[in-house]
Amino acid sequence: MGVFDLKSTQMHTFPTWRGCLMLPSGVYLPMLPERLWLIERPGTQAPADKKGAYRKAIEERSMYALVAHGKPTPGQVRLSSPVLRRKATNALGCPKVPVSMRRRDPGLPVCDGNHGDDEACCIQTATLKAEEIPSIFQFPFWGTPAWEEKYAKRTNVERGFSMFKNPDVIGLTKGQFHYRHIPNVALLVTFMRGAHNLHLWMKREEDAAKAAAAALRNHRLLPRRSSQVAVVLDPGSTILEEPALAEDSPAP
Ligand SMILES: [Zn+2]
Repeated sequence: MGVFDLKSTQMHTFPTWRGCLMLPSGVYLPMLPERLWLIERPGTQAPADKKGAYRKAIEERSMYALVAHGKPTPGQVRLSSPVLRRKATNALGCPKVPVSMRRRDPGLPVCDGNHGDDEACCIQTATLKAEEIPSIFQFPFWGTPAWEEKYAKRTNVERGFSMFKNPDVIGLTKGQFHYRHIPNVALLVTFMRGAHNLHLWMKREEDAAKAAAAALRNHRLLPRRSSQVAVVLDPGSTILEEPALAEDSPAP
């Protein structure tokens, strides 16, 4: 199961799936407001209020999302309707689920009930297969906090690839090697990873040596504190009280 990012041009909706709305970010109940279909992810340097608004919108949208049941596999995920979940404090209403109409939040959109008895809000459990949306299937769904966490790990891998191309490390260029078959490529990658790790190790040693030299230089630049005598107490020694001169000195 790949972990990939999507661009805004890929933000179209897919054919509905069992009466649900299928978006790149997941499967939702049909009453999901259109303004929440595409939530633009703020950049890394975005102001705090923009990031806050994004998080709030994601949270609002997650209320409409179908809930994953059990452990998803690379090929499929079992989903169930949030309206049917008893434990969840769900405030959405569907006329096909009478209990949900009683406890629903009047401020939220209501389902029009225009779906089958085993569709949308009424899905107990249904299996969404990767073949149904091959171009976007991944779990956790795109853009969710769980996905963000998984995707963030990818940057380390990307950084590793840039090391391969870095002329100061490996300097791999296009067309340099003509290898085929998995064992050959695996061997090549293993050696490159070895070279990469060696580079990182040498860089760390270099950095440590530089830091030590800088510390030593700073120490020499500081004014000498010769007037202040450092008192070092040996934890094993007892501090002897200084005898009072007035008592010890013989009376004149
Ligand atoms: Zn419904």
